[in-house]
Amino acid sequence: MTVKQHSVVSIHYHLTDESDQVLDSSQGQDPLTYLHGAGGIIPGLEKEITGKAVGDKFQVSVAPAEGYGELDQSLIQSIPLAAFEGIEKVEPGMHFQTQGQDGSARLLTVTAVEGEEVTVDLNHPLAGVTLLFDIEVMEIRDATPEEIEHGHVH
Ligand code: ZN
Repeated sequence: MTVKQHSVVSIHYHLTDESDQVLDSSQGQDPLTYLHGAGGIIPGLEKEITGKAVGDKFQVSVAPAEGYGELDQSLIQSIPLAAFEGIEKVEPGMHFQTQGQDGSARLLTVTAVEGEEVTVDLNHPLAGVTLLFDIEVMEIRDATPEEIEHGHVH
């Protein structure tokens, strides 16, 4: 059995960037199980898993455009410190959950604080990053009709 549209796939993954920094890993945890072809994982990775079999081990390099997008300079903005009402000390590296113009949840990262001015980055933390995955396919099965209808694994 190989991975195709509507397979339920379990993978172990190890994700680094181009400077070999570990960004995420399933090592020591349960494998990631997802419904193939339902947009559950990034497109560049899903494409490479198609056709693979249980036990296959391979590396995938995903360019930003097929990962978390290019870095958008317009999403790096300056806002007044007063906007962080109720936060005792605003420091670079802090993350806040905020709402985008379309109402969706966005992660905001503080990149600099200068006096009353705070520079924030609304890009996804992995935007602009080439993602290097080590993948091992652990399990493949067909999805149930209910799983296909819901678009996720039960
Ligand atoms: Zn469901």
